[in-house]
This record gives sequence, C-alpha cells and structure tokens, in this order.
Amino acid sequence: MQRLLEAGVDPGQLHALFVTHEHGDHARGVVAVCDHLNIPFYASFGTARKMDWVGHDRWRCIRADEAVRVGSLEIIPVVVPHDAQEPLQFVLQNADGHRLGILSDLGSLTPHLVDVYQGCHGLQVEANHDPQLLQTGPYPPSLRARVAGAFGHLSNQQCAEFIRRVNWPGLRHITAGHISEKNNDRYLVSQVLAEAIGCEPHEVTLLEQDMISPWYHLNDQ
Ligand SMILES: [Zn+2]
Ligand SMILES: [Zn+2]
Repeated sequence: MQRLLEAGVDPGQLHALFVTHEHGDHARGVVAVCDHLNIPFYASFGTARKMDWVGHDRWRCIRADEAVRVGSLEIIPVVVPHDAQEPLQFVLQNADGHRLGILSDLGSLTPHLVDVYQGCHGLQVEANHDPQLLQTGPYPPSLRARVAGAFGHLSNQQCAEFIRRVNWPGLRHITAGHISEKNNDRYLVSQVLAEAIGCEPHEVTLLEQDMISPWYHLNDQ
C-alpha cells in the first residue's frame, strides 16, 4: 500500500488483485489488502486450495485457459513450470491492444509460454541467478538444485533466451526483476541482457526489491 502511494496511485482505484502462486513473496497479505479495499482477488484453483481460499467470498477462480476481463483490461493467464500447485503468470492487454507481459518464478521456457508473450510492448521478466554464482553461493545443495531446476527460477541466460524469442520492433520497455541478492550480480544481469537486447549494459533496467520502479509508457513513439 505504501508503495502504491509512493507511485502516486490511489489504492482506492484498484479493482482486483491477481495472485500468481502461493509462495510467500507473492501471496502474503492478499486477503488483508483486499479486505481493506473491499475488492476481490483472482487465483488458480491450485493456488486457492494451497492457501485455504476455496470458498472465500473474495476469491475468484482463474482458469489457465480463459482470459479474465477487469474494466478495460484483459488479463491472459499463462501456465509456467514452477514448484507450486498451479502457478500462473499474466499478459495484460488494454483496449488499444497494448500488451504488458509479466513473467517470473519459472524454471524453464515452454513453447506455449513463448507463444503467449509474443507481441508484448512491455516486459517485466525474471533474471534470478547466475548459474556459476548459484553453485558457489551460500545455498545448501538441495535449495541450489531447486532454484536451478526446471521448476525453479530463470537464470540470466534463460532470461536472455526468452527475450531473444519474443523480441520484436514493438517491444519498448524491458525490466528485469526477482534478481537474487545472494546468487547473482547486477552487472552480470545487465551484461547478459544487453547482449540479448542489443543495447549497452547501462540501458538495461533492473528492478530492486525495496524500491518502486519508474512509470513506463507502452505507447511511446
Ligand atoms: Zn517468487
Ligand atoms: Zn515462487
């Protein structure tokens, strides 16, 4: 809520929350915020079951194969490989046809998800770890295997591969997020992504966990 205010957004303008999956960094506080604002939240059945939300009167079920409309926005769910019950990520499309793709918490790319993220004008994508730093970092072997596995998180290189596959002339803004503080190095992220995008490392926008990002316009000329 504090961050919405910092970004100049009146929380009263929110119509709904969309929950990607049950992990604490994504699902904590959802009910409290929705109660406070008197709005519904959307989550898959698997996420709702895990969070004990089935039957909750604010819960709206999202099916992986069905877009949801909220006001003038269409929210297109995308199934991703991640170690949660039924994780979804989202592509948002407004009435003008501008598309924002949000993608994090996945261990590998699938042909289906690469398809759905085609034609985005903005992308917010996970660049979680550098494989070398993960292997020599502080995580215990089991956690390392989880993060690096097909149902874990995208490495910088996988993120770059994703960008290469969905890049097109209409893509105006890319921000990288969910960057591990222990298993990554921000300069490495910039380098790897700059190569994929074809720009200079300082032009790559990296998000920070405790700071809001600036606003980006997807219809810039
Ligand atoms: Zn996460
Ligand atoms: Zn997760």
